[in-house]
Amino acid sequence: MYCSHCGNEIDDRSAVCIYCGETILANVKAYKRAAEPLSLLLSILSFILPPLGFFLYIYWRESSLRKSDTAGLLGFFGFLMMVIIYLVVFC
Ligand SMILES: [Zn+2]
Repeated sequence: MYCSHCGNEIDDRSAVCIYCGETILANVKAYKRAAEPLSLLLSILSFILPPLGFFLYIYWRESSLRKSDTAGLLGFFGFLMMVIIYLVVFC
């Protein structure tokens, strides 16, 4: 892509132009979105309902890496807990 301020060619994922220091707003927003944490409600739901956690993991994989990781991890541990509870109760 090209810097809208100075016109030099810069990396597509740059948050700042390396030539003039201008902030690339669209990329800054994308970074912020990627770093947003998963809400408490969705964290709990991902844990109780592992399929939801796995769904959110795939759903946010591209746009929000942090949420995706948290949801996937919680879904995994939620699933693990269910297996353990199942084994304890029924075996
Ligand atoms: Zn520039």
